Amino acid sequence: MKHLFILVLFCLPVCSAHPLNGAMKEEDPNMDFVQQYLEKYYNFAKDGNRVFRRKDSSSVVKKIQEMQKFLGLEMTGKLDSNTLEMIHKPRCGVPDVGHFSTFPDTPKWRKNHLTYRIVNYTPDLPRDAVDSAIEKALKVWEEVTPLTFSRVHEGEADIMISFAVGAHGDFYPFDGPGYNLAHAYSPGPGIYGDVHFDDDEQWTEDASGINLFLVAAHELGHSLGLYHSDNPEALMYPVYDSFVDLTRFRLSQDDVDGIQSLYGPAPVAPQDPVVPTESSPPEPSPPEPGTPVACDPALSFDAVSTLRGEILFFKDRYLWRKSPWSLQPELHLISVFWPSLPSDLDAAYEDSSKDIVFIFKGNKFWAVRGSEVQAGYPKDIHILGFPPTIRKIDAAVSDKEKKKTYFFVEDKYWRFDENSQSMEKGFPRRIADDFPGVELKVDAVLQEFGFFYFFSGSSQFKFDPNAKMVTHILKSNSWLLC
Ligand SMILES: [Zn+2]
Ligand SMILES: [Zn+2]
Repeated sequence: MKHLFILVLFCLPVCSAHPLNGAMKEEDPNMDFVQQYLEKYYNFAKDGNRVFRRKDSSSVVKKIQEMQKFLGLEMTGKLDSNTLEMIHKPRCGVPDVGHFSTFPDTPKWRKNHLTYRIVNYTPDLPRDAVDSAIEKALKVWEEVTPLTFSRVHEGEADIMISFAVGAHGDFYPFDGPGYNLAHAYSPGPGIYGDVHFDDDEQWTEDASGINLFLVAAHELGHSLGLYHSDNPEALMYPVYDSFVDLTRFRLSQDDVDGIQSLYGPAPVAPQDPVVPTESSPPEPSPPEPGTPVACDPALSFDAVSTLRGEILFFKDRYLWRKSPWSLQPELHLISVFWPSLPSDLDAAYEDSSKDIVFIFKGNKFWAVRGSEVQAGYPKDIHILGFPPTIRKIDAAVSDKEKKKTYFFVEDKYWRFDENSQSMEKGFPRRIADDFPGVELKVDAVLQEFGFFYFFSGSSQFKFDPNAKMVTHILKSNSWLLC
C-alpha cells in the first residue's frame, strides 16, 4: 500500500479504477462510474463505500461540485444530465486535481533541448502519420517557448512515447476503448516525461476517431510540466473535444501563459520566419557580419542543389537562390525556408520525380518538399547503404534521367539506384577513375544542361559525361553573375 501511495503522490497519471467492494447492489448504474471518475480524477477517497452509501453525503456533493466547477458545468452538486454526459466523454488519464500542491516547486525540465523517441507504433495509422503527428504536436510547444526537440531512435530519450493496451507496466492500466485515452508523466528522469497512448482507441489523422495529434499535443503539455486547465478553450482542458477545427488549431492564451510561466517565451527569431511563396518572395536578408559575399574570389560552397527549377547554393547559414526568371540571385538565411535545418550543410540533391530535396549534414539527412521538412527526418545516412566507417558525405547529385544518385566521399563515390532504393554493387569507386580531371576534394555537385559541375574550393569543373572529360574550369561563383 505504501508503494502505491508513493506512486500516487509522485506520478501524474492516476491509478485506474480499483475494484470496488463486492456485493453491494446499486440502483443507478451510473453510480459506479461516477465514483470511479471522482476517485480517478478528483482524488476522491477510496474508502470502500459507494457514493450513495456514504454517511457524510455533503462531502460527496462538494466533490461533485468541485468536478463541475473544474469542467465548467453548473455547480448543482447533482448528477444531472450535463454532468453525466461530460463524464462519459473520452479524456486524458491524468487527474484534474492531485497532490501537486505538495511539491515544493513545479517540476520542469532544467534544460531547453529535449530528446524524444517513438518506441512503438499503433496499427491504426501508417508510421509516417504517427511521426508527423508527434512532430506537429512538439512544434505546438516549440513555437511558444525556447524549447527544442530532437528525435532519437534508440536508447533512453527524455520523452519516451509508446502505445500500450490495458496494464502496461506502470501501475496505471488503460481501460479499453473510450474514456481514458492517454496519460503522461511530469518532467524528470526515467519514466518521467514519458507519454503512453491507449492503443485500444482508434487513432486517426482526422477527427473520425481519436485524433492523435490533438491528444499528443495535450499529453506533451504534461511531459513539459503543465497540469490540467479548467478553461474549456485550452488544449490542457482534460476532456477530449472532437469538434476542434484541426486545420486552424492553435494554443489558447491560457496554454501559452502556462508553458511560458515555466520556460519563458520563444527567443526572437533572427529573421522574419515567413515562409516564402511564389507570389510573395521574401525580402533579401540585409548584410550582417559573417554574411558571405557572392563575388568574393575565394568563395566556396557547402552544397548545391536544384529545387523546382531553381538552383540553391548553400554557404554557412545562408543560401543563394537562383531562379530562371530572375537574373540576380537572392541571398537568404537557410532558416527562413526551413527553420529546423542546421547550417554548414554537407550535401544536397533533388529527386524531382518525388519533388523532394535531400539535405545532408554529418550522419543525418533531411527530406524537404518546398518549404516543408518532411516528417520522420532526419534519418541516419547509413540506411542508404553506406558502411559504418562513413561519417559524412561531401557532395551528392542525382541524374534525373538515369535515376541514379551519386554520393561523393573524399576520393571515392557511391551510386544509389533511385528505382530500387538501394546502393549499387561495385561501389565505392575512385572519382579520378570515372571523372578524370576532377582530382580535388569535391564540395558540391550540380547537374545542369547535361553536364556535371563539380565545385572544389573556389574552382568549378564542368564535366561532360558523354565525352568523359572536363571541358571547362570556372570560378565557383560564376553562377552568381560574378
Ligand atoms: Zn491531461
Ligand atoms: Zn502508462
